[in-house]
Amino acid sequence: MPESTRTDLSRARGQLLAELSREVMDERVLDALRRVPRERFVPDDLRSMAYDNLPLPIGYGQTISQPSMVAIMTQALQLGASDTVLEIGTGSGYQAALLSLLAQRVVTTERVPPLADEAKARLAEPRYSNVEVHVSEDSIGWVEGAPYDAIAVTAGAPEVPMELIEQLADGGRLVIPVGSRALQELVRITKTPEGAIRNNLGGCRFVPLLGESAWPDQPSKGGEPA
Ligand code: SAH
Repeated sequence: MPESTRTDLSRARGQLLAELSREVMDERVLDALRRVPRERFVPDDLRSMAYDNLPLPIGYGQTISQPSMVAIMTQALQLGASDTVLEIGTGSGYQAALLSLLAQRVVTTERVPPLADEAKARLAEPRYSNVEVHVSEDSIGWVEGAPYDAIAVTAGAPEVPMELIEQLADGGRLVIPVGSRALQELVRITKTPEGAIRNNLGGCRFVPLLGESAWPDQPSKGGEPA
């Protein structure tokens, strides 16, 4: 990468982190955001935009989520260092990389096999060695690894899938965008012995979930590569 590009990226990165630190109070989350280079998780031709506070296309009709949304969602998971966390929607692998610095074990599932392969390659670094990437079939989540202390769904859904509440440990948190295809609410469900507690965390817009638990006319696989 040319020196000038590196300088521009580092300036953009500083600005983005300053912006995120106004929305996110959890120092551990901010520290993880500082430590994971987002430019390694976006397509090469979009690297100059890696620190714009925007979602960016990663192929197959999917996106790497907007940094502020990733930050808010990660904070909402209330992770402890000994937690096991499940992410639905590996995509680029960026959020999984952040989660790996905040939890003991990260299980992440992706519906589009080539995206899972690309994410695995990006996550093949010793510091991300606590991340497992799985290609998921029609059913949602990864029952083999349950129960989870936290679950993040990084694609929008019409409602909270019961299958995911079942994969949560007692005291576990599920963070998921739910609503219509055009607009969702970021929701946190905390599982307790007395039932589920729901917190609404604000409006958002994610790419749609695929497969089971998706909107009814959603195709079950991802789009074309480009
Ligand atoms: N967390 C990602 C954002 C990915 S966008 C990142 O940091 O880059 C959402 C991703 O969810 C897409 O890659 C999409 O293919 C995947 N996806 C959609 N439905 C899914 C399902 N049922 N199970 C697993 N992954 C799914």
